Amino acid sequence: MERHIVHADMDTFFVSVERLVNSKLKDRPVLIGGGSDRGVVASCSYEARKFGVHSAMPMKLALRLCPEAVVVRGDHELYSKYSNLVTGIIQEQAPVVEKASIDEHYIDMTGMDRFFGCWKYAGELRARIIRETGLPISFGLSSSKTVSKIATGEAKPCGQRQVLSGSEKGFLAPLSIRKIPMIGAKTYAQLRNMGIARCGTLQQMEMGTLYRVLGENGISIWRKANGMDASPVVPLREQKSMSKETTFHTDTIDIQQLRKTLAGMVDALAFDLRQEGKLAGCLTLKIRYSNFDTHTQQLRLGYTSSDKVLLETTMSLFKKLYSRRMLIRLIGIRFSHLIHGSRQADLFADTLEEIELTSAMDRIRNRYGSRSVMRAVCL
Ligand SMILES: [Mg+2]
Repeated sequence: MERHIVHADMDTFFVSVERLVNSKLKDRPVLIGGGSDRGVVASCSYEARKFGVHSAMPMKLALRLCPEAVVVRGDHELYSKYSNLVTGIIQEQAPVVEKASIDEHYIDMTGMDRFFGCWKYAGELRARIIRETGLPISFGLSSSKTVSKIATGEAKPCGQRQVLSGSEKGFLAPLSIRKIPMIGAKTYAQLRNMGIARCGTLQQMEMGTLYRVLGENGISIWRKANGMDASPVVPLREQKSMSKETTFHTDTIDIQQLRKTLAGMVDALAFDLRQEGKLAGCLTLKIRYSNFDTHTQQLRLGYTSSDKVLLETTMSLFKKLYSRRMLIRLIGIRFSHLIHGSRQADLFADTLEEIELTSAMDRIRNRYGSRSVMRAVCL
């Protein structure tokens, strides 16, 4: 059966939300990120990009390139709120929705074409999102996730684009290979060294040639350049969570031990989260008392993978939940509402030092194992 898949992506999402709450920011170069000396640009408007500013750049340098820019501290609670508002609208209108990142969704409309035209239906959905949230959004519609995502990129800003079944290769051929999702800087350089600049060139090559140069990754790139992608839209309810539990040898009320155990679990889970390139939108704490009474408490949070944020949230949940001075048998932590995302969303809260510290710790763990380094609070 032919599939109909929509990829929907908010346009300069953080900047758009800021402009919604402060109309003075319209049409001006806007930098979002830590305003301190050591801050980093988390996101910037098209007007700022013209000056060579890009995300993850030190704020100091960005301001040197574009002195007239307005710096906004960034508020990831606010962005998460609007993100969830958009998700809610899409879920009301479509049965199979994957939340891919804070501002991206995939919608599988297969089967809906018999009742509504998918193009028309998606267009109306887009209009509804713009009307109800005031935020610009673009989408692409095709028979696969990859082609739709690339089509969204071509439709921006604030547009929509359809690639009809059978015309995928023709659509992709003139585009830069940089447009293929998952081609990073290193692979891009490798392909350019082979004289490959456009998807059309990849289409003319043998798959085996790319396999010899890039291994499995080469096959996947070749397939994508040819518009082949059978990966399914994973519905929100099936998007997995991550959790850890500790059962104590002897039931305890030792607050220091409980806090250390929690900190150790959060530390390990946050590391796994970053390794998978994900952010968590919800945290659940579970406490089981010695009489097997089990209590859980959930808290929605701004999508994050920051040790600091997750640890602070966990500790405040623990303080709230553990009010009875009863022996504890087990504690557990679960991160859910996982979406793809870089640490971009944390850049407002974190200083450059905090980001560098976490990255350095992650590098050590990758090399020497996950228990090789940890924050003193976990010891
Ligand atoms: Mg976006």
